[in-house]
Amino acid sequence: MAGATAAQASYIVVDTGHTPQHPGATAASGRAEYAYNLDLSGAVAHDLMALDDRVTRISVNGKEIALKDRTAQAPDADFFLSIHHDSIQQAWIDAGRRREFAGFSIFVSQLNPHYERSLQCAQAIGEGLLAAGEKPSLYHATPIQGENRPLLDERLGIHRFDDLVVLKTARMPAVLVEAGVIANPDEEKRLGDPQTITKIANAIAQAVHACNEKP
Ligand SMILES: [Zn+2]
Repeated sequence: MAGATAAQASYIVVDTGHTPQHPGATAASGRAEYAYNLDLSGAVAHDLMALDDRVTRISVNGKEIALKDRTAQAPDADFFLSIHHDSIQQAWIDAGRRREFAGFSIFVSQLNPHYERSLQCAQAIGEGLLAAGEKPSLYHATPIQGENRPLLDERLGIHRFDDLVVLKTARMPAVLVEAGVIANPDEEKRLGDPQTITKIANAIAQAVHACNEKP
């Protein structure tokens, strides 16, 4: 049924947050966020392709790429997914609070031209992560400078972050997922475990596939 599959396949951009040269946050052990993003986004891309979706990956060739260029690589794609892992405020690290923070966060931008569809996919991803046993972190809503991201859905950990560049420059619906908090040493260990990566990737890929499924 190759013909039928091709007709229904969705085209998904899977963006690996950051680059090897500018690797984002630092995990409790010192390992860079980019390494976590690469592992998880690779598993998500693998799972999407197993569901017969077409996938373009961004920031996997070792080169620098500007945020606005990430969303321009595949202008005809149906959906843009950016995969990240989280840190916490330096003041919380300094106060010895690393182990208090855990969980995923999902972001959408109202400046994206397909805000409603972005939100629908964010909801699907949140439901998938909850069903997989993950919990929302919620600390990005803390009313302090550097956080203060309005919560759109507390149960699903969905926040509004209008100025996130990849979300607002994407011409297609777009969602950014912070899969977990690598600043927390316990969480870092768990998030680096291949079983956890497989489980989280599966949940995200199934959700992205389902919310982009064509009739
Ligand atoms: Zn990041």
